[in-house]
Amino acid sequence: MHDPAVFRSEHLARFQAEPTVFAAPGRVNLIGEHTDYAEGFVMPAAINFATLAGISPRSDGKIAIYSENYGEERYFEAADLPAKASRHWTDYPLGVVAILAGEGLAIPGFSLSVWGDIPLGSGLSSSASVEVATALAVLEVSGASYPSSAMTGPMLARLCQRAENEFVGANCGIMDQFISANGAKDHALLLDCRDLSFRLAPIPANVALVIANTMVKHSVAGGEYTTRRAEVEAACAVIASHRPEVRFLRDATVQDLNRWGSEMTPNSLKRARHVITENLRTVAAADALAKGDLAELGRLMAEAHASYSKDFEGSCAEADTMVALAQDLPGLIGARLTGGGFGGCTINLVEQSEAQDFVEALGGRYAAQVGIVPQIHICHASGGAHRLE
Ligand code: ADP
Ligand code: MG
Repeated sequence: MHDPAVFRSEHLARFQAEPTVFAAPGRVNLIGEHTDYAEGFVMPAAINFATLAGISPRSDGKIAIYSENYGEERYFEAADLPAKASRHWTDYPLGVVAILAGEGLAIPGFSLSVWGDIPLGSGLSSSASVEVATALAVLEVSGASYPSSAMTGPMLARLCQRAENEFVGANCGIMDQFISANGAKDHALLLDCRDLSFRLAPIPANVALVIANTMVKHSVAGGEYTTRRAEVEAACAVIASHRPEVRFLRDATVQDLNRWGSEMTPNSLKRARHVITENLRTVAAADALAKGDLAELGRLMAEAHASYSKDFEGSCAEADTMVALAQDLPGLIGARLTGGGFGGCTINLVEQSEAQDFVEALGGRYAAQVGIVPQIHICHASGGAHRLE
């Protein structure tokens, strides 16, 4: 982790003003994949990788944005913000400013520096953490109080999601921004994507979140994502033709599939089976954590991976290998592919005392079998976005 004192002094040297500094974490999803757009459940945890955002007011009406990761600084006019994205990293912070301005917040000139230790673009949601850290910083410099009844954590998450959807132009769900804003130390968060209600589920202190990057992301992901969504929607339409109260697969049951699955294409039926059973597993996983039943949690993670791989066909050879190679390693509680699919990271819940050996063994096995050296991180569930004193 970057020393916040160094981050502060760099902001001061660059912009001749002391910053107020905020941190917003990245995240890993423990279970609940492709359930968000079916208005279902996800269960992420915030992790101990974060983006820092330092902010100080300016008197010249300009907005200066500097990313230490990119070593790059850009200037904008607070009174004349760009109306659209420019396919540059500044789209993320600017999108947040634009959405907050659209909500009626009077945005003054400011200098903003950001820096993060979340590996960019590897599925741990550096983008949401930039958005959430920026949002806290911009609220502060604009004189708005947070959290407050006018701006709760869930509301902030929604605004940051809108920045990514509407300004950046990335079609992401609410999970990443929600957990970055509302995560709690040593807890996972069961989120109901329908109404954004949530409950925390404790992760025992002796359990590490080991995140293993397969180092592959297959380019089919974009196109496959579109087909999967269409297949899920087609399955939902079949069920809704019999039960009109079913608006999303969140409302459907395994019994519905048994009764009307024959009216679906084989692929639609499989995708729907994944989504419907994944919702059940995700809620069950939160219950297992609440009871401290780690064996049950591990079993649910294994089922979730099999469902993601076989029914949803959202995995890939490398991710299946990473999950398989973890199975007999000492300390493993559960392993599965996490994130949007077709590559990315696996999440392994591992007994803390075995975590270091686990990382070395898994890394060695994967490198030997796949021919790629993976990046593997030992993480812990961390608190949500906050101000650094
Ligand atoms: P992920 O969210 O999984 O890390 P994304 O592609 O959604 O991957 O977001 C990564 C993008 O977010 C980067 O390409 C960059 O534009 C922006 N970003 C993330 N962290 C920073 C940072 N510290 N400074 C500037 N831009 C950042
Ligand atoms: Mg992202």
